[in-house]
Amino acid sequence: MEYQINGNESDTAICSVNETTREYHDSITVNNTSIETKKCSNEKRKDFLSWDDFFMATAFLVAKRSKDPVTQVGACIVTPDKKIVGTGYNGMPIGCNDDDFPWCKNNPSKLDNKYFYVCHAEMNAVLNKNSMDVRNCTMYVALFPCNECAKIIIQAGIKEIVYMSDKYSFKPEMVAAKRMFKASGVSTRQHIPSKQHLVLDFSEINSNMTQMPSTPDKSNYN
Ligand SMILES: [Zn+2]
Repeated sequence: MEYQINGNESDTAICSVNETTREYHDSITVNNTSIETKKCSNEKRKDFLSWDDFFMATAFLVAKRSKDPVTQVGACIVTPDKKIVGTGYNGMPIGCNDDDFPWCKNNPSKLDNKYFYVCHAEMNAVLNKNSMDVRNCTMYVALFPCNECAKIIIQAGIKEIVYMSDKYSFKPEMVAAKRMFKASGVSTRQHIPSKQHLVLDFSEINSNMTQMPSTPDKSNYN
């Protein structure tokens, strides 16, 4: 099957369809010279990210902003209709210089431990929200929340926690968090990603554009 999308007697854009493979085959003819021939499928991509993978990946990407040399955690808050309304990562409070405050966690000088100062990702995600409230939202977070973040999550009305790792489940902070989540009706579930690695390639946008025909060279027109 072949049909003309647009054009006149000499300048045309032709799209032919292979009825068996459903592949589209585009070509553009300017002044009787074919200048572009490309193929694309009529089928949608099969390896797109699931919502769960996308939101967890967003949490992991946000974590890349953290200055913590040991633990980088990100969180992402999502509405029931799949809109991101808040992100956060673990970091010092506003005005507390990253270079002046301690990142150590076992410093003999008690006041020089990060635990006194660092805001966790979950707290920052709630405080950074860009909607009126986050009631009935889901929070995606790499690590299971601690008790302090659990309080904030519960008070904010978030109803579901999706986490990647619960490796500190033995700590009292996580046990207490689970106790509060259970009492207040916040559900929790572990996310199992569909693939272990996602690669972001910033050059992809320039090297992988095979669908749209290029703009005809206007110097060929009179
Ligand atoms: Zn926390």
